[in-house]
Amino acid sequence: MIASSGTPGLGLDEFSRVDLRSLLGAAVSFDEPLARRTSMRIGGPAAAFAVIKNVRDLAALLRWCKAERRAWTIFGLGSNLLVADAGFPGVAIRLAGDFTRVVISDTLVSAGAAVPVLALCREAAKAGLRGAEALVGIPGTVGGAVRMNAGTDLEIGALVERVEVMLPGEDARTVATPDFAYRRCSLAPDAVVCGAQLRLKRGDTKMIGAELRRRIVQRNATQPVESPNAGSIFRNPPGDHAARLIETAGCKGRRIGDAEVSVKHANFIVNRKAATCRDVLALIEDVRAAVERAHGIELQLEVHVL
Ligand SMILES: Cc1cc2nc3c(=O)[nH]c(=O)nc-3n(C[C@H](O)[C@H](O)[C@H](O)COP(=O)(O)OP(=O)(O)OC[C@H]3O[C@@H](n4cnc5c(N)ncnc54)[C@H](O)[C@@H]3O)c2cc1C
Repeated sequence: MIASSGTPGLGLDEFSRVDLRSLLGAAVSFDEPLARRTSMRIGGPAAAFAVIKNVRDLAALLRWCKAERRAWTIFGLGSNLLVADAGFPGVAIRLAGDFTRVVISDTLVSAGAAVPVLALCREAAKAGLRGAEALVGIPGTVGGAVRMNAGTDLEIGALVERVEVMLPGEDARTVATPDFAYRRCSLAPDAVVCGAQLRLKRGDTKMIGAELRRRIVQRNATQPVESPNAGSIFRNPPGDHAARLIETAGCKGRRIGDAEVSVKHANFIVNRKAATCRDVLALIEDVRAAVERAHGIELQLEVHVL
């Protein structure tokens, strides 16, 4: 028997590595550090990291994970993820290639799941299509935005007509019309978003461009974009703002290790330099307890912990 050469504890033995290599070739790497792939710059390695460029390879990889009972997850741009210091003991999947296409037909924008939201907004603006401006500055992919129903004063779900998904064990994509709610969509938890079709409206290219710039300036003024972070840590409770509750509970600037509640926006935790996931999780619990003491409200996480 060949001994495992994987990182202790990550649990991908040599047989599995050989299997994955023969399935995906150079598209798979092992013990891949995830910190540099998240906006928070935190997290240990993934046992395997696969860059998947087409539906056929995605189907094959999901089938392999199912058969081998391996955990897997889709990694968009990692802008809403907090990865454990010990890393992820499964296959982290990044979509690329065919999943990066944008096709515009009249007012319908079809975007692959790996298209950055910023690129989607720019393509729509170039084509004289308005409606997506509120999404500009969300630093994730279309797939991540659909999964999270990301948005500001408008959420992506309000624009989505159809979503193409792939489920483990299936060979082809299916079309879904999910329901969306605040930071949620009704897709099955193991559905991989392959792409989405968004219905926009005709508009004036110059005005759309000006609105995109205005929103980016406003974002930069109110969010700690200069330090690594993962966006809003907590969901807004009904009728209130997590940032207001955190600030009035006296948590702004609170620190554990190098993790700090942003002084610019209280619902952001920034990584001042070498924060660990453990630091961030401890600070999250500290803030949650302070808010509960001050306001009697238990904040729920928006950020996904991997
Ligand atoms: C500075 C900053 C500002 C932000 N501002 C906003 C904001 O204004 N509004 C807002 O809503 N969010 C905001 N966010 C959070 C984040 O950008 C969004 O949630 C974004 O949609 C996440 O996309 P992603 O590609 O980075 O997903 P990831 O962070 O990589 O993943 C998030 C979740 O989605 C899943 N996922 C990703 N891609 C797919 C796919 N193709 N199929 C199925 N599941 C998938 C992942 O498995 C994970 O569970 C902000 C974050 C930062 C850092």
